[in-house]
Amino acid sequence: PDHAKLKQAIQLYDKIAGASQFNYLGNVTVGRDLAVDELQQSHHAVIFTCGAESDRKLGIPGENLQGSYTATEFVGWYNGHPDYRDRQFDLSHEVAVIIGQGNVAADVSRILAKSIDELKHTDISAHALETLAASRIRDIYVIGRRGPAQAKFTPKELREFGELAICDPVINPEDLALNPASQAELEEKSNAASVKICQLFEEFSRIQLSKSKRCHFRFLLSPVELTGKDKLQGLILEKNKLSGEPFSQSARGTGEKITLDAGILFRSIGYLGVAIPGLPFDARKGIIPNNQGRITENGAALPGLYTAGWIKRGPTGIIGTNRACSVETIGSLVQDLPALGTTPKRGISAIIPLLKERKIRYVSYPEWKKIDDQEVVRGKPAGKPREKFTQVDDMLSVLG
Ligand code: NAP
Repeated sequence: PDHAKLKQAIQLYDKIAGASQFNYLGNVTVGRDLAVDELQQSHHAVIFTCGAESDRKLGIPGENLQGSYTATEFVGWYNGHPDYRDRQFDLSHEVAVIIGQGNVAADVSRILAKSIDELKHTDISAHALETLAASRIRDIYVIGRRGPAQAKFTPKELREFGELAICDPVINPEDLALNPASQAELEEKSNAASVKICQLFEEFSRIQLSKSKRCHFRFLLSPVELTGKDKLQGLILEKNKLSGEPFSQSARGTGEKITLDAGILFRSIGYLGVAIPGLPFDARKGIIPNNQGRITENGAALPGLYTAGWIKRGPTGIIGTNRACSVETIGSLVQDLPALGTTPKRGISAIIPLLKERKIRYVSYPEWKKIDDQEVVRGKPAGKPREKFTQVDDMLSVLG
């Protein structure tokens, strides 16, 4: 919510949606409301760009204790996603832990670290703002299993931790010592982002602490157990050593353990794609198997079926990465055009009767715009860009 600029992507989508051949059907779940083969019968090509909805698991004891959550749940909750808006997060303990050092971990820790003044004019959901206003969290630990040179933040996202109103970043300078393989990684020209990240960590390690909250970046630690009877009380972490060649170093446990008290923990160790009924799926990678965007089954391309984004490659990369990924898929589609057939297909006019018959309340693009406008109106009194609807029924009630 506090990265409003990223949402300018909406303007580009809006431009595309203005094209006369463009149709939008929202509030429809493929694999439940509509079958993949129904889409195939009515279109020459279908592209699946549905992202990665689930999460990877840590696979350690205590992972499911109350107080231990996935970043997905928390991010969904503060962004007002209907599936997560009713979750409860107890922010009454002073210590929060985030496992993982990617940009999602940065998002979660930044939201916990910010003052209400920094958040109140964003499009964060009202219920989240209220809970965060009562937060007693003072210390946030962001824990990486590998070293500072392997942290996956982008520099822009990490830099923000030095600019927060009420939270200082904390790093022990000794934790920034690098092994020879990590030094070799930083010497590679293509690895300029990690050099920048390590410079930022250095800067953070010299900061004189003066603010009421602290965000501690810790390295070479893996959680081995989350502890507590009915509710999370802390965690046991094992110290790691890096082993392997530059750029393929992995974290190996040393057997040395430390404990940390904590009232809430977020696992931010990567997303995982979910299978769509009717399509092949690689459950280990959490992706739809494909060759340059052409969906494959046992290595052979399935005519007319394509994929792009995280469900094609796995959950890595920023918006720009997905843009390049979709360009590759469209390249494949364009190449295949002659083979996709010339017999006209009915497109959306074959789909709408099916949805009507099944009593699926689909939402058209002009209708979506009405919901969008209404959210903007609802945000005005509080000086927010919008106040989101967090229940599907509320969104639909705007449409009468
Ligand atoms: P990510 O960048 O892949 O980071 C995952 C983190 O979890 C890594 O530090 C990884 O460490 C760690 N990890 C994985 N398995 C672990 C385990 N078993 N135990 C402990 N740690 C483990 O994933 P993400 O943060 O979910 O982000 C996904 C993508 O979205 C990224 O490309 C990210 O840049 C992008 N994104 C961008 C923005 C933005 O631009 N503002 C915001 C959000 C997300 P290892 O390196 O050791 O595997």
